[in-house]
Amino acid sequence: MKLSKGTILVRNCQLIDGTGAAPIPDGALVAQHGRITYAGPAAGLPPMAPDVEILDAGGGTLLPGLVEAHFHATYFNIAALEDLDIKYPVEYVSMLSSVNARLALECGYTAARSGGCLFNVDVWLKRAIEEDLLPGPRLATSGREICSAGGLMDWNPEFRKIGMEGLVFIINGAEDARRAVRALVKDGIEWVKTYPTGDAASPDINDHHTLCMTFEEMHAVVATAHNHKLKVTGHCRATQGIKNALRAGYDTIEHGTFMDAEALDLLLERDVPCIPALYFEKASIEHGPTFGLSQTVIDGHKETLEGGIESARLILRAGGRLGMGGDYGFGWNPHGDYARELTFFVKDVGLTPLEVITCATKTGAEIMGRSADFGTLEVGKLADLLLVDGDVLADISLLEDRTKFLAVIQGGVLKAGRLAPPFPTIVKSEL
Ligand SMILES: [Zn+2]
Repeated sequence: MKLSKGTILVRNCQLIDGTGAAPIPDGALVAQHGRITYAGPAAGLPPMAPDVEILDAGGGTLLPGLVEAHFHATYFNIAALEDLDIKYPVEYVSMLSSVNARLALECGYTAARSGGCLFNVDVWLKRAIEEDLLPGPRLATSGREICSAGGLMDWNPEFRKIGMEGLVFIINGAEDARRAVRALVKDGIEWVKTYPTGDAASPDINDHHTLCMTFEEMHAVVATAHNHKLKVTGHCRATQGIKNALRAGYDTIEHGTFMDAEALDLLLERDVPCIPALYFEKASIEHGPTFGLSQTVIDGHKETLEGGIESARLILRAGGRLGMGGDYGFGWNPHGDYARELTFFVKDVGLTPLEVITCATKTGAEIMGRSADFGTLEVGKLADLLLVDGDVLADISLLEDRTKFLAVIQGGVLKAGRLAPPFPTIVKSEL
């Protein structure tokens, strides 16, 4: 991704640097050649060259670009399990994912860590974004997911003779687990996504208290992945599944729904981040009836929502790390609604807006292994910025509304927002 060749000055703003530090009321930021050279009080600004490009925030808020920590680029209006896999061919799925990537950037998400994708779309989507062919967040890729036979993701009955090769590796035992990871290594992905537990979506045979992988399988995934420098995460709701994942060496925990004291200790021991993805549960409860979800499924989502809220509070209060993101791309929880997660964590979980922003910026970059590059507004880091018309600490839900965005900036380049030029639709190749 190209960096800006010039210098920008953002001024007349409240500056939130993403570290968790108190906001600076009259802040300013300078970025030269795409990297931050000053971030602090306007009073301390260094002398400016005459050709500097000035962005006046009109008293609005400047914060680091947001990080979606559980992004599914390939999901699109999913209303039933089958929609995850066989609804569209890979050609159309890759086009949909480019639309989702652009939307995510326009929504202020300058980076995203994938929570799994169809086929091998992430790797190639990332390449197109990195080569500036498409606008989108800086991606940490995932690929086809891994689940044991009969588990949550293995829903097609045998008589249909439908393979799941675009979505998931169905494994039996540690050898299959290694084979799946090795295929992913060849695909060029960064994060291996697994299914240690079930979910409220499958109440009969794979509910949120059911284990969908054995410890041996999970351990084989981690050993093989780590050997090739890949990271591992998993859909973990049941308490035992969380513990298995942490003992197997998982790098992050998705959901972490039913934590007990022992699971929390295991999480804190290695400071493993958890991505609760709670707004999805709320949206499922509120809009489920319209989409034909059964009362049993909705009751299950109520249980996982309550458990998830409790666990998220436990983790943060104990000094653990939370990433913000989650499962957008369902009919009732569409792409574009990403920042509803942030509002939910303020209004329903009880975090302060500043805590939530830290989770959605600094921790997000840490999860991606990119904290040296972005996530906070500090000298030397990439100028990945979000400039909002209004005070997001007074009203966190401003982040849900793209029309309030003055600028979404990556590497010092204005990509979206009211001050940005239209994105060039055709990029000439440069030799
Ligand atoms: Zn997911």
